[in-house]
Amino acid sequence: VVADTGAPTIFDKIIAKEIPSTIVYEDEKVLAFRDISPEAPVHVLVIPKFRDGLTQLGKAEEKHSEILGRLLYAAKVVAEKEGILDGFRVVINSGPSACQSVYHLHLHVLGGRQMKWPPG
Ligand code: 5GP
Repeated sequence: VVADTGAPTIFDKIIAKEIPSTIVYEDEKVLAFRDISPEAPVHVLVIPKFRDGLTQLGKAEEKHSEILGRLLYAAKVVAEKEGILDGFRVVINSGPSACQSVYHLHLHVLGGRQMKWPPG
């Protein structure tokens, strides 16, 4: 279990390209890159380039509405690029009870295999 301390995370280094990642999509506000430990044939993380206090969805404020919308739309663009538009899943783990481990809001885009519901 990892606590939300508000400290910078490894994703800041990925945004700054100080550590490598496989980028799938990028614009001025959003970065999408492959998860280092994929749970499906396609597993991409979609993150805001400017965290602006958005460590987890549970800390979202109304001022974050625009970036939240952009992230969700970017998830669809990623799914299209990855060829999984016929079926994909978008997951946000928010907080320790949801097993969030990196406190920089991120969407998991998962696909390329049959998903099960409900998740564990
Ligand atoms: P969470 O558990 O917070 O919802 O998801 C964090 C995700 O970030 C995990 O799926 C983990 O595999 C991924 N991750 C952690 N560190 C790195 C890294 O350095 N590079 C990449 N590409 N993914 C990472």
